[in-house]
Amino acid sequence: KSKDWQMMLRLRSPGGEIPGNLFLSLDELSDKLGNGTLRVTTRQAFQMHGIRKDNLKEVIKSIVNSMGSTLAACGDINRNVMAPAAPFETAEYITARTLAVKVADLLTPMAGQGTFLELWADGDLEYTIKPDKEIEENRKLQFKENVFSGTKKEPLYGSTYLPRKFKCAVTVPGDNSVDLLTNDIGIVAFTSKEGSFEGCNFYIGGGMGRTHNNEETFARIADPLGYVENKDTYELIQSIVAIQRDYGDRKSRKNSRMKYLLHRKGIKWFKKILSDKYFRKEIKPLRKEPENKLIDYLGWHKQNEDYFFVGLPLLSGRLSGKKKSLIRDLVKENDLYLRLTPNQDILLCNIPNKNKSKIKKALKKIGYDNLNDINEIQRHALACPALPLCGLAMTEAERILPEVLTRIENLLTDMNIEKTILFRMTGCPNGCTRPYMAELALVGSGQNKYQLWLGGSKNLQRLAKPYLQRMELDDLERTIQPLLELWKKSSAEKDFGDFINNQTESFITNLLSEIN
Ligand code: SF4
Repeated sequence: KSKDWQMMLRLRSPGGEIPGNLFLSLDELSDKLGNGTLRVTTRQAFQMHGIRKDNLKEVIKSIVNSMGSTLAACGDINRNVMAPAAPFETAEYITARTLAVKVADLLTPMAGQGTFLELWADGDLEYTIKPDKEIEENRKLQFKENVFSGTKKEPLYGSTYLPRKFKCAVTVPGDNSVDLLTNDIGIVAFTSKEGSFEGCNFYIGGGMGRTHNNEETFARIADPLGYVENKDTYELIQSIVAIQRDYGDRKSRKNSRMKYLLHRKGIKWFKKILSDKYFRKEIKPLRKEPENKLIDYLGWHKQNEDYFFVGLPLLSGRLSGKKKSLIRDLVKENDLYLRLTPNQDILLCNIPNKNKSKIKKALKKIGYDNLNDINEIQRHALACPALPLCGLAMTEAERILPEVLTRIENLLTDMNIEKTILFRMTGCPNGCTRPYMAELALVGSGQNKYQLWLGGSKNLQRLAKPYLQRMELDDLERTIQPLLELWKKSSAEKDFGDFINNQTESFITNLLSEIN
């Protein structure tokens, strides 16, 4: 079997919802036609690896028949829409989840969907994703002057789609489980005390991907745009997409994400063109939000009076072996469904109260013992697949994450540091695990060599900075130890990323150059 003929396939699953039947089908397909594993991505979708090209149709058709889809999970189009994974049944969480599904439907290609079904599901239009009435109405705005691309079949995307991939996330005020500012459009949905959807704060122009040694590419966090009421939310989203369609760079793919448009033209220009030409309504100043937190929902939680859900940590999102078989059995026997988190973990949802202790016992058998006491550094660490699965990888990430985490943990223990560090790593600068937001990140820059990024924040509000270009992995401890010592001495209270951020860049650079 030639490696060149193996494919990776990714699903569309707004807010990370995976119905039980779809999971059972994915589980079977991954064993029969994949590499036996499923992988939770950092955008709340399942990825399947190792699918032979001649089996692609069977796999995609089975997914579609199980009411899943791979439509627009890749390509120059809106990708999987993120939302807080927790199935809490409070008005604010229901609003955010519902909005994520509606945004996904709103930005689903119109003609593209027919082609997708024709290619992969023998043209069975029964499986067309049907938006609700509100979204159907709002999609008519795609024919409005300026939002209209001039192509009737595909009114928003036109014949050439977008210059590059496009990413949206929705959340509730204060919940930053979705890494909101790394998206092209980040939406914070507000609900009234009575529980109705009031409107949204918008942030635009975030994105992680960059290229080594190319200063014209960079990671960027989104700019605040402002607040609009609920009735204008969908029109604003379509207007923003249309601006990127019309003004995004189509000459150089490396500079074609919307973040570069924001960087080149500025947020003032963007606001002006929105109000003059595309949206033509008032955008108010941002509404006040509570302080953001990175929430992961691990452990046991009440879903509602009758049901629990449980969050299970998965290192690098890889689901395989005994864990995969047991989760399949639990889903089948208890009629559960899954939600995937942006932290690459899974939530088992709809656990009836009476089944909690039985499921707890079963989970214990596969190592999910004390879910209230999860190793802190592992809890939030992320790594991308890198070698051998990703063609862009320059070095390892997922395969060596356990070893790297153990090394960092040992160092912290030896130094009597009880606090933890938000750590992420990738095999190349594309940044699929959003490393540029971490307090400490390694970004592959050669075989066993990594760029060292420092200074992001625990609640994912600030970009880290690069300090070393090609650090040998063997040098990790001796490189970061002096920084950890200073952190320990300076203030036990501050997080590592805050400590780094409070130093001058030259101080850190000089310190590191003495060591390396
Ligand atoms: Fe993404 Fe690069 Fe990792 Fe591949 S190696 S998964 S492109 S970050």
